[in-house]
Amino acid sequence: MIVNKIKYFIGEILALIIVLFLSSCSSKIKIVDSPISFSQKRIELTKQYIVQHYGITPKDISIIPKIIVLHWTAIGTYDSSFAVFNKETLEGSRPDLVSASDLNVSIQFLVDRDGTIHRLMPETWMARHCIGLNYESIGIENVGGVNDVDNLTDAQIKANVQLVKYLVKKYPTIKYLIGHLEYRDFEGTKYWMEKDSTYRTVKYDPGERFMTAVRKDVADLNLKGPSDITKEHTIEVNTVQ
Ligand SMILES: [Zn+2]
Repeated sequence: MIVNKIKYFIGEILALIIVLFLSSCSSKIKIVDSPISFSQKRIELTKQYIVQHYGITPKDISIIPKIIVLHWTAIGTYDSSFAVFNKETLEGSRPDLVSASDLNVSIQFLVDRDGTIHRLMPETWMARHCIGLNYESIGIENVGGVNDVDNLTDAQIKANVQLVKYLVKKYPTIKYLIGHLEYRDFEGTKYWMEKDSTYRTVKYDPGERFMTAVRKDVADLNLKGPSDITKEHTIEVNTVQ
């Protein structure tokens, strides 16, 4: 009888250990640090961008993140995507952006097609990835989407879900999750910071399918999206009037 009880308790304890082990495995995120070149020159160019576009004179380039913006690179491989972000200046590679600043585009995270998450720069340094919202957002790029054709993988969806959960837990100031294709819905709201009304791009990344899939799997975080910002803004404007 006692032997049976002991066996029962050992069984229970083993089961508990297995459950704890599995849950720690599933929630543990693996991030590979793969830093892009970010010299003092790039930091200074970032500061200049903040002055010129947002009318703020910052002491450094750190941000308080409120929004996560998901993207695709429109480039087919990790290496070519990394090479683009690794350059410090645009060097004429993006005629649509260069008149606004020579600072090259960058991103805090780059997710490869197999779901590997790379951290390219410090999480709360400002990256140039989304007009109007750079100073308050963290960006996640996904390798793929060449010619704006949605070919992002299930592994990338899973990695983005993990990463969004990790970031929201680490930075409780984050309240919004959007796709780059939705960024203009923030125009005119309190979050929009771009001063040049002619500086805009049309974006389709990372596609509706990808956004729907990621949002479904992070639903428990209650992050807000474009429809919420539109609604909130309407209420604010009506309250002021
Ligand atoms: Zn984008």
